[in-house]
Amino acid sequence: MSLSRRDFLRYGMAAASTAVASGGIDLSPVEAAATSLRIKEAKAFPGVCPYCAVGCAQLIYVKDGKIVDIEGDPDAPHTEGALCPKGSSTYQLSLNERRITRCLYRAPGATAWEEKPLDWMMAEIAQRVKKSRDATFVETVKVGANEVPVNRCEGIAWLGSSVLDNEENYLIAKLARGLGLVNLENSARLCHSATVPALGATFGRGAMTTNLIDVQYADVIMPTSNWAECHPVSYKWVMKAKERGAKIIHVDPRFTRTSATADIWVPIRSGTNIVFFGGLIRYAIESKKYFHDYVVAYTNAPLLLDPNLKTPAELDGLFSGFDPARRSYDQSTWKFQLDADGYPRKDTTLRDPNCVFQRLRRHYSRYTPEMVERVCGIPKELFLKVADIYCSASGPDKTATASYALQLNQSTNGVQQIRALCMLQLILGNIGRPGGGVVALRGHSNVQGATDFGTLYHMLPGYPAAPIQGPHPTLTDYLEKTTPKGGYWVNNPKFVVSLLKAWWGPAATKENDYAYDYLPKREKADAYSHQHFLVGMYEKKVKGFICMGQNPAVDSPNAKMARQAMRNLEWMVVVDLFETDTAAVWKEPGVDPKSSQVEVFFIPGAPAAEKDGSITNTMRMAQWHVKAVEPPGDARSDAAFIVDVGNRVKELYKDSKPKKDRPVLDLVWDYQPQGPKKEPNMELVLKECNGYATDDIVDKDDKPLYKKGEPLKTFGHLRDDGSTACGNWIYTGIYPEEGKNLALRREKSKEGDYLGHGWGFVWPANRRIIYNRASADPSGKPWSEKKKLIWWDAEAKKWVGNDVPDFSPTMAPDAPRAKDGPFKGISGTDAFIMNPHGLGQFFASIVDGPFPEHYEPFESPTKNLLSKVQNNPVAKVYNIGDLNKLGTPDKYPYILTTYRLTEHHAAGMSRHVPWLSELFFGHFAEIGPEMAKELGFQNGDMITVETPRAKIRVRALVTERIKPFVINGKKVYQVGIPWHWGYQGVMKSARGDITNDLVASLGDPTTFIQESKALLCNVRKEA
Ligand code: SF4
Repeated sequence: MSLSRRDFLRYGMAAASTAVASGGIDLSPVEAAATSLRIKEAKAFPGVCPYCAVGCAQLIYVKDGKIVDIEGDPDAPHTEGALCPKGSSTYQLSLNERRITRCLYRAPGATAWEEKPLDWMMAEIAQRVKKSRDATFVETVKVGANEVPVNRCEGIAWLGSSVLDNEENYLIAKLARGLGLVNLENSARLCHSATVPALGATFGRGAMTTNLIDVQYADVIMPTSNWAECHPVSYKWVMKAKERGAKIIHVDPRFTRTSATADIWVPIRSGTNIVFFGGLIRYAIESKKYFHDYVVAYTNAPLLLDPNLKTPAELDGLFSGFDPARRSYDQSTWKFQLDADGYPRKDTTLRDPNCVFQRLRRHYSRYTPEMVERVCGIPKELFLKVADIYCSASGPDKTATASYALQLNQSTNGVQQIRALCMLQLILGNIGRPGGGVVALRGHSNVQGATDFGTLYHMLPGYPAAPIQGPHPTLTDYLEKTTPKGGYWVNNPKFVVSLLKAWWGPAATKENDYAYDYLPKREKADAYSHQHFLVGMYEKKVKGFICMGQNPAVDSPNAKMARQAMRNLEWMVVVDLFETDTAAVWKEPGVDPKSSQVEVFFIPGAPAAEKDGSITNTMRMAQWHVKAVEPPGDARSDAAFIVDVGNRVKELYKDSKPKKDRPVLDLVWDYQPQGPKKEPNMELVLKECNGYATDDIVDKDDKPLYKKGEPLKTFGHLRDDGSTACGNWIYTGIYPEEGKNLALRREKSKEGDYLGHGWGFVWPANRRIIYNRASADPSGKPWSEKKKLIWWDAEAKKWVGNDVPDFSPTMAPDAPRAKDGPFKGISGTDAFIMNPHGLGQFFASIVDGPFPEHYEPFESPTKNLLSKVQNNPVAKVYNIGDLNKLGTPDKYPYILTTYRLTEHHAAGMSRHVPWLSELFFGHFAEIGPEMAKELGFQNGDMITVETPRAKIRVRALVTERIKPFVINGKKVYQVGIPWHWGYQGVMKSARGDITNDLVASLGDPTTFIQESKALLCNVRKEA
């Protein structure tokens, strides 16, 4: 899509009027002239900022085949034409002298790159993939007495990326699984992997519940991350809420620009959020400020639990079923009491001592304001003030929004920290309602999409689990064990069979269980994550590595170990725009290149402005960007690389007879590569993700529904008989007709549609606020006029309102529980349709407990004051000897927390962009004045920060923003260090020591996300 001349003029006018509105000297004529000179007669293409997941819509101006300017798109309802410094500098991702445009090859042991032709590189890469696959492939294993096909290759790891497009991640997921790869990840593992099980277990889907635009209608907003600096453009909605009178409470270890805009700043010690949220839940219950009617109708609070379930209040820190030898829980007592129909018994008075509500109350009874003060370092009076304000934003007329990012994720209690926040929102009735919700602020542009599309070891596109050899040897076993008896996931067989049809087409038949055997089977749950496969590389079990758009040399925990791990590989492919630290790992400063035999292939990639595809922002909105210019030299889209690898590997296997090669040979892989660079047709990929009929299909009345090959309009039309193929069911509807790409829609918000339904496509089914059935009371009426969103129209017999209903559109509020069909188990009041009982879940089975319980970070300045169990008893500790030593407070007395900045992003791109790199003087650590004085250093001094894993040299930035905490009566200092720097970068200020070298190899037990927000360190001044 390109814009008309009229559109172009309109945008030019908008830019000029923005200048007027900004105040001060009226420069508008000058600016307008400059703008019109620069973009005069340029063609504008729709773009999306490739940095963070706010997903600012851009216009890319092109003249004579060159990008001349990139600006924010003023029509975008969620960003309204704004861009932050990163978005404003995306121009330099395309036009940049450091951009690598030719293929580079580093032979084993060589001391320099060599330029090689693209064709030679691709042929060699395909050979390496085949060689390592053949050498490490496991076709079957014995499970008990049975020989189970597992079709698994553990010798190659593939790191996709949350800066790659949805379609590219889909292609990686498909090809990697086709090859049998199980070591499959993207950067979401390291930033937001805890989000998915936490939100999923509580609400039903692992995604942000609301929409950024809606934040303006909150009465109270509680950011628990540095929202203003890390997701700058979206912060406008917080400020709009403030203008309307909302209170802002910022909960963060550091005082930041977010704190500066807040009414209250709540300093909290890193890693103690469960105590804070638990304290708020306790306060809401004891002060009766929770939303009683919402809780009774829409949550599992009334359901009765097995009396044999014991919680940490009774077992001093543990839940019943703990096995210390295996460091895991037997969950047999974590269950409900069932009635004759197999449904949980309930007590709607909430008085039964075994109802979830009373168990929750007892569990959090220990989380008193005094305990919050002693553990979190938040003074009791401050806590009580905040509790009163926050918990008062509940009930029919009020709502509060809470947001979070990595402070909650990156912890050995990551899932439970987020769960606790979700439960707070649930008890206050803040989900599914305007001005409510949980805002999961994703970092990279496409963290949401890369997660949705399954470039993660544990799940397939659309969130079905990746099968495990023991419990899932056959399709029947798999579907039986992964399909619940109620809730919308009863449709799982339709999603899975349609996915298998999309991948293996005609070779997936009813007779062979739709080629289920072809899907690689995991050995166990505790394997293949980012941290797992780095250890595998270190131990030389993983031989080859494909790394696209990510920089694990810098962004991995225990990054020094990670870099050695990569040097231990036989071969590595890096696809990127610049020579990243990962690409240059063999010549890292201080390392003799000859000491590493890793063979490295560098393939130049293309940024979003140079390719077609969609990116899903943090609020589940897919936006399509259009290729504005040709990538230079050998550079091409990541999709072209993936499709080319697939075609070449298939060619290498073409005469192969063994059964183990059928998954590769039968993989449907025709994306019509075009032109000299073999760019695939991305709309074809999108159509496959959307789903299509594999045969003529009729409806229940025998009327024609689809002709063979037609795209599906809704996931409600998916079948489990092989007549539909669908790459990702949650995206069905994004491409409902041939040539109609709803991700490309760019319609301004219309009067009365503040959520902007005409812009992009939001999964599922363009619903902007999910669980919105809960915005109406059980009878279907809005809880209040002020907070109405959707409601039941009794005359029309359907749900109507300001959003697409996240509910069966014609299920009446008094409908009994469905006995069958797609909404099996759901009644007219079950607002959380994805959960088995249709209810928001306070009680949910997570591997480390059904209720979030506080455990100290593995490196902590204090004993756990809640129980005798110091750390999460089932957390992952990687066994790599001295490389993973942990620090104690006697030797490492300071709390260290890590974070990021507005002007830099993640570990790679921004350090190659001059406009951004010149904005910081270099790497630094923030330290409070009192601590600096005690240690005898001044602002700007060079200091060493040390953990048992590594030491780094940085400049001291002595600032009042960093305060000490009083923990259990003792003062403890903290240090804050951003983590962007590495040895590659455009200028001296862009290069520096690697913060993640300091981080240990630890993981949350559900997702194996690392603990990089709460460490212990020592600090000293350089001599
Ligand atoms: S980095 Fe984020 S906030 Fe900044 S312009 Fe890009 S998408 Fe918008």
